[in-house]
Amino acid sequence: MKNNLIGENIVVRFAPSPTGLFHVGSARVALYNYIFAKQHKGKLILRIEDTDKERSKKEYEDDILSGMKWLGFSYDELYHQSERGSIYKKYIEKLIAEGKAYISKEIIDLNKERKGGMDQVINLRNEVIRFKNPNKKVKFKDLIRGEIEFDTTDLGDFVIAKSFDEPIFHLVVVIDDFEMGVTHIIRGEDHISNTPRHILIQEAIGAPIPIYAHLPLILAEDRAKLSKRKHGEMTSVKYYERMGYIPEAFSNFLSLVGWNSGTEQEIFSIDELIKLFNISKVQKAGAIFNMEKLLWFNKEYIKKFPKERIITEIKNRFPKEFQDEKIINKISDLVVERINIFSDIDKMVVDGDIQYYFEMPVISKEMIVWKKGGTIEQAKENLSLISDILNKISDKDFDLEKLKEKLMKFADEKGKGNVLWPLRVALSGKEKSPDPFTLLFVLGKNESINRIKKAVESI
Ligand code: GLU
Repeated sequence: MKNNLIGENIVVRFAPSPTGLFHVGSARVALYNYIFAKQHKGKLILRIEDTDKERSKKEYEDDILSGMKWLGFSYDELYHQSERGSIYKKYIEKLIAEGKAYISKEIIDLNKERKGGMDQVINLRNEVIRFKNPNKKVKFKDLIRGEIEFDTTDLGDFVIAKSFDEPIFHLVVVIDDFEMGVTHIIRGEDHISNTPRHILIQEAIGAPIPIYAHLPLILAEDRAKLSKRKHGEMTSVKYYERMGYIPEAFSNFLSLVGWNSGTEQEIFSIDELIKLFNISKVQKAGAIFNMEKLLWFNKEYIKKFPKERIITEIKNRFPKEFQDEKIINKISDLVVERINIFSDIDKMVVDGDIQYYFEMPVISKEMIVWKKGGTIEQAKENLSLISDILNKISDKDFDLEKLKEKLMKFADEKGKGNVLWPLRVALSGKEKSPDPFTLLFVLGKNESINRIKKAVESI
């Protein structure tokens, strides 16, 4: 994995603009930077790019910070561009003094800006600071895309600041990367077209050109760019936290949006990722964010959890009436089988898929009759006979194996459907529920017999 392009004393940065909730695409940028820093024993800087005063919001910054924490992406230094105005100002002055930038007096046609505004022509005189473009070819190394060459002539003398106190994105990124000693810039592909400007500015301020890695876009399953407008809350990291996803599962999944290890293995701990990840092997083509796959990852992580952790999660999500230690212990595996994410437990509660473990169900005649050729008489008779069989099993033998053995013999004699269906409905009151043996085991002997008796009486 040693790559001569990578070198030593690595410094990377994650540089989000707090203009929206922490986006999953941003989280992948953060993850790859985090892994890259760790694998090269380098430094990760978190830089909040909040120079756009109108669009930057504290709540978004908080959301990014809390998302980083949830995902376990620690960083070594934290900066805010809004606090670095004096540094930028010095650079602007220097660039102007050296003739590399200039103040440009311009007339802004406000009518053009306010589309459909008044007819009257209102012009505003304005000053901006433009970079004096040397109009040349620039080259940069991209670990994912190879060497990229660009002719900057078309960029013209682009704006680098609206005033001495209002530098714009292109300038501040370059100054900060230089001041902070950033060696590698891992960021989204949407910035690739900004890079030539950045290189011109780097050359102008005497900064070395960092090595780039532009990550492929993240696409939704419809292959459209994953965007908040089109794909809603599933684009924000907060959503996954709120839905009870396991952060390790989420970042494992995210690590594979655009990269793979070249083997069949997909479940990786963060330490394994730090060993195996290779930025140069990230794909160029857009990478699909597949929700089904994410659910699969999450379930795989849940399955590996120790029982106590599952039980705690269940207890936290069950209402007061369902806080029965013994039953929760018995159903924890069943619950795990039926969920992908912990919030599915809430759904099970709401959908009535848990209730029957704790409350006597209400039985309807229609439901208890086996649909494919059963009668109410058969249901009644078989339930009474089952009750007799159960009575003869001792409390300590009342386990899945014994129950299956005794009842399957009976069911084979009487016809499976006519035995197992009414039994399951008598115990759960539901068309769909776990199999009757499981229900018997969870409910225990007394409660089971009691429910069967009640069912027989009520039909
Ligand atoms: N602040 C930019 C963004 O949020 C990132 C700039 C960069 O990584 O160079 O898209």
